[in-house]
Amino acid sequence: MTDISIRNVKVLDGTGSPAFDADIEIQDGRIKTVGTAGPAKLEIDGQGAHIAPGFIDTHSHDDGAFFRYPGMAFKLAQGVTTVVAGNCGFSAIPADPSIDPARASGGILAGVEAGFTDLNGYFEAVMGKQPGINNMMLVGHNTVRAIVMGMAKRAPTQAELQHMYGLVEQAMEQGACGFSTGLIYTPGKWSQTEEIITLARAAKTTGALYTTHMRNEGDRLLEAIDESLTIGLESDVHVHISHHKSAGKQNWGKIKDSLAKIDAALGRGQRVTLDVYPYTAGSGRMIEYFNLENINRDFAEVIRIASCPPFRDYEGRMLIDIASEQAVDITDLVRTILTAPKGERTICIHFIIDEEDIATNLRHADMMVGSDGIPDLRGRPHPRLFGTFPRVLGKYVREDGVLSLPEAVRRMTSLSAQTFGLVERGKIKEGYWADLVLFDPDIVIDKATYDDPKQEPIGISTVIVNGQVALNNGQHTGVGSGKMLRYRRTAYGE
Ligand SMILES: [Zn+2]
Repeated sequence: MTDISIRNVKVLDGTGSPAFDADIEIQDGRIKTVGTAGPAKLEIDGQGAHIAPGFIDTHSHDDGAFFRYPGMAFKLAQGVTTVVAGNCGFSAIPADPSIDPARASGGILAGVEAGFTDLNGYFEAVMGKQPGINNMMLVGHNTVRAIVMGMAKRAPTQAELQHMYGLVEQAMEQGACGFSTGLIYTPGKWSQTEEIITLARAAKTTGALYTTHMRNEGDRLLEAIDESLTIGLESDVHVHISHHKSAGKQNWGKIKDSLAKIDAALGRGQRVTLDVYPYTAGSGRMIEYFNLENINRDFAEVIRIASCPPFRDYEGRMLIDIASEQAVDITDLVRTILTAPKGERTICIHFIIDEEDIATNLRHADMMVGSDGIPDLRGRPHPRLFGTFPRVLGKYVREDGVLSLPEAVRRMTSLSAQTFGLVERGKIKEGYWADLVLFDPDIVIDKATYDDPKQEPIGISTVIVNGQVALNNGQHTGVGSGKMLRYRRTAYGE
């Protein structure tokens, strides 16, 4: 008998086509039938819900979260069945336990003791935790550079470049979907374009991607786009621009110019895609944004503290309010926080993006959705960690009409699966893996706010991961059926 039959649903198949009525049968983890379902061991009545391929979070920092929170409830509740981790140049692999993996990974591995050194070892360790969702990995430039060169502020020697190339190449051979950079971060910011071109070529052998948190997302956004396109051209690799934005009020609207540059490149036949998160604030490790010798006051004034180990009572508050309450200068407050014990672990939220730019981004046909969520559940994380996907469906599709429902689902599923090399996923199609989400487009919406960010969304009832029910009528089942995916190949261990 069939494992699962799902009836009374409207199918959004992920291709961008309008919803249609059909039943779905699942057998051995895969979609067996899209049409008429027979009897099954488990019968699911969709009660008129829409069913779509499970959402793919193209921009996550969940490498370490698979150890700390293997159930990945904050993603599952949004209908996310796969994340792409290792973004912004920071990845769990490669790891060299003798070189402080927590530092090389940009904090991603803080507190994680698993003993792996390469992607296969990482996959093995995560599978031992029975992950709630699937994971695809990028290998990060900052991590590789930190392992090979430490924090050296210079170009690599030929031998160092060879060593880094070998580490990137090994990750590609083991199934990474690309090479990521974070060129505002330490130590990536000390690299020249040539170094990135050379390392990106390691992705060419498998046809994988170059993904980038660009060198500048504000005053020099357009120059940074040019650099990214040059890297793609010179290395002959698909470029994916992470969390596309124009940061800082003086730059709002400039993304129209950067999208025009991307459209021109697409017109010339270059392969380029992007992702965006649906919020006007960014978030990251606060220490990365400040030079303690010359603290940027304007930037400090738009910061809210997400988590702060030395001063827990600052969490959820704007720096400007704390400074005025304490009658101290805001730049002194920044210095006090960042130089306190464990102060470098402080995560901040900064309000730097224009609402209209988010809509402009979402209108672009090659724009995917990526949460950029930082999975630190202490304090008050940026609400994108819990809310990204339902927010796009509720606010930008239903309320604001920025894009249609089938198109939004396409950008969260088949476009992402095709770009990031997820085999037989991202569509509702016979023979494909049964990663599925049931939701009600009339009520789906995020509930996470800056004040109360750890709230699961509403309107998402059931989520199936590799043919197993992971969220059942809003309740987490803890089934742990996620897999470690390999670029354009079978999953790890298959
Ligand atoms: Zn980033």
